[in-house]
Amino acid sequence: MPKLSHDSHFKDLFENTSDLIYFLTIEGNIEFVNPAWGKTLGYELYEVAGKSIYDFIHFPCIKEYKLARTKAIFEKTRIELTTTFLTKNGNEVVGEGQIGYFENKDQPVYTRGVFKNVTARKAAERKIEESEKRLKTFFKSGPDAVIVINEHQQILEWNPKAEIIFGFAADEVIGKPLSETIIPDQYREAHKKGMAHFLKTGEGPVLNKTIEITAVHKKGHEFYINLSISNVKMEGEWLFIAFLSDITERKKTEEALIHKEAELLQSKLLEEKKDEFISIASHELKTPLTTIKAYAQLALSISKSNGNELIQKYLTKVDQYAGKLNVLLNELLDVSRIHSGKLRLTLAQIEMNLFLSEVLTSMQQITQDHKLIVENNESVKVKVDTLRLEQVITNIISNAAKYSPGKEKIIVNSVKKGNAIVISFRDFGIGIPKEKINKIFDRFYRVDEVSKDFSGLGIGLFISSEIIKQHGGKIWAESIEGEGSIFYFSLPIL
Ligand code: ADP
Repeated sequence: MPKLSHDSHFKDLFENTSDLIYFLTIEGNIEFVNPAWGKTLGYELYEVAGKSIYDFIHFPCIKEYKLARTKAIFEKTRIELTTTFLTKNGNEVVGEGQIGYFENKDQPVYTRGVFKNVTARKAAERKIEESEKRLKTFFKSGPDAVIVINEHQQILEWNPKAEIIFGFAADEVIGKPLSETIIPDQYREAHKKGMAHFLKTGEGPVLNKTIEITAVHKKGHEFYINLSISNVKMEGEWLFIAFLSDITERKKTEEALIHKEAELLQSKLLEEKKDEFISIASHELKTPLTTIKAYAQLALSISKSNGNELIQKYLTKVDQYAGKLNVLLNELLDVSRIHSGKLRLTLAQIEMNLFLSEVLTSMQQITQDHKLIVENNESVKVKVDTLRLEQVITNIISNAAKYSPGKEKIIVNSVKKGNAIVISFRDFGIGIPKEKINKIFDRFYRVDEVSKDFSGLGIGLFISSEIIKQHGGKIWAESIEGEGSIFYFSLPIL
């Protein structure tokens, strides 16, 4: 291998180093640069000769660079500097190096720059700095309490949120074992064992999971927290970072919800029991009632031939009241049918006006104190369960008569409205308070004010509304207290 001269040594170094090396005239113009300089900043060497170095330095760094260069020249020394160059494409290249003064007897004064490209390192450093900053911000003002403990359970870090949640200031707890601060008595032993188990086996069932557990406040009360623990090994020792948040409010809402659900379930069960009882009781009562009615009718026919009028009168009463009782029991059975979804309709096509007239005629026979006045009776075809519809009309008219004592008339109207027939029943009775009008179709609902003066179970309108709904119609009421009420129902016209 041929021996190289000093010059060729330096030339080789100059050309092959990855550092950026350049020589500037005293004015700051480029005299020459090494290949690494051109390669790093993206220039061909001929492009840069004679140009000012400041064309290649990032604007915010120029002032500092100039100062350093001036100092180097005046003090004939080298100045350490970190500066940023700009590539031809405008990218930043961070250089860490020095500007040096350089003088040769027979040559003009130069400055020389030697810079190492540290862009990647600086970017990495900046990233670390940023994440440290973020971590610090999170530690200081994040939504969670952050507590760091070591293998000996000693508290190393306790952030401001932990101070708020647990009531202990950081300097009260740092260095203390965690179990003496926020761990409730019942968990202390398990905590110790868990830690020992982890150190021995590396297994920690609660690590890297979120669990709900209770903790103790400085004032002594226990409350629910959300807890997740991560572990890291630093300088040969395990550290445990716990993130905790107070979930008292959420727990309260959850508990209230569970309580409410339980109450709801209980009342539903109670309702079901009630319905079951009503159904069984009605069935049981119906059998003897049918027998009473049968015997009353038999006795009535015998007494008719014997001619005792008083007995006949009494027996007729027995028969009538047995009939009423039968209607009540049927209504009760309907309520449980509705509840179990077993109220079924048998539909048939009818002329509404004829049907209404028939029902009103038979109703007039038993409604002695009130005259049923038909103002309008539209002729339309509908498909209905006649028995059930008669039940609805009977119920509304009986109510109209019952709740308008001393009045003389009930006005009935049947009017076509669009695709429906709307039938209304107007009485001039006691009326219904405005705020209660929406409740009268509820099961077992009765307006308090009437309860003591008028008998009833509060189920007639409930059954009526279910029947009308099943026909695809609507039922509603309008009323003015003390002046009377109008009950309406509508049915779709065929
Ligand atoms: P009830 O057996 O109590 O009459 P309903 O279900 O038929 O049961 O009616 C429910 C409640 O609606 C009644 O208790 C009464 O307070 C009120 N109500 C029904 N119809 C009328 C009416 N025509 N005038 C005034 N109040 C009425």
